[in-house]
Amino acid sequence: MKAAVVRDAVDGYVDIIDKELRPLEFGEALVDVEYCGLCHTDLHVTSGDYGAFPGRVIGHEGVGIVSKLGEGVTALKVGDRVSIAWFFGGCGHCEYCLTGRETFCRNVRNAGFTVDGAMAQQVIVDANYAVKVPEGLDPVEATSLTCAGVTMYKALKTGGVKPGQWVSVVGAGGLGNLAVQYAKHVFGAHVVVVDGNEDKLGAAKECGADIILNRHDGNIAQKIQELTGGVHTAQVTAVNAQAFTDAVDSLRPDGRLVAVALPTGNMELNIGKTVLDGIQVAGSLVGTRQDLAETFQFGAEGKVKPIVHTRKLSEVNDIIDEMKAGKIVGREVVDMSLS
Ligand SMILES: [Zn+2]
Ligand SMILES: [Zn+2]
Repeated sequence: MKAAVVRDAVDGYVDIIDKELRPLEFGEALVDVEYCGLCHTDLHVTSGDYGAFPGRVIGHEGVGIVSKLGEGVTALKVGDRVSIAWFFGGCGHCEYCLTGRETFCRNVRNAGFTVDGAMAQQVIVDANYAVKVPEGLDPVEATSLTCAGVTMYKALKTGGVKPGQWVSVVGAGGLGNLAVQYAKHVFGAHVVVVDGNEDKLGAAKECGADIILNRHDGNIAQKIQELTGGVHTAQVTAVNAQAFTDAVDSLRPDGRLVAVALPTGNMELNIGKTVLDGIQVAGSLVGTRQDLAETFQFGAEGKVKPIVHTRKLSEVNDIIDEMKAGKIVGREVVDMSLS
């Protein structure tokens, strides 16, 4: 079967190779991948930013059909459509796994990073951890919900968003446009979006943003304060540290900043504002299996619709270049049936 793997040089690109899979072990299932989206995290993996794993099959926004079961599998059956997410599996018995916080398990396995991922024609999954894709959800769209969707759904939960509140989404890329849709159509919030790219702001408007602001126009925090009275929660998906600092100033008292993007460096936090305004800052990391099941269900109900385009497996390196150039609105998804 064909697979996109991290190059031996770990130079930011993939090689498309023929790979033979090992036999299934107890509790595992074989999935024939239909679609897999490419995410910025994959770019970090191909560049070795989190450690070098040459030969690793990338991809954690996968959707496919179960074609074979290993011994002892009860959670899945042949023919089920399942997802392959960044949270590939936990230990199942630590404090975090036992209390609904399994993504923080210290023995977590991540698809396309510490275990082979879904940018391939087939992938082996841990059957207890492969979340089913519900009927009525388009499998191409499901790939985006598997990562960006669940990440933002969870981040909005982490932000404690309530109906009628104001949410800012800082950064209108693949995460941002889903943040807008979940905030607006699932959480019932009002949404202000900040980005520096007019195409992405236009897409955010179409996704339901109430206010769009171009960060190149300056004084963003002040404008947000004037227009909304300060947001209740800022969801920061932009990959620059300054955006985090600015987002703090756009919060209203008792506001909460949720850090989602992963730029290098530190954010500045004014101690006076933090204390006097009761500011809270939280990190949010993807989501649990239950979060993903909920994320999918809202997609199946038509409340959110990811922006997706299908491509061929042979185009992965082209997509990587386009992502690095910031040219992509929404997500590029590889259709494994195209060669
Ligand atoms: Zn991802
Ligand atoms: Zn654990």
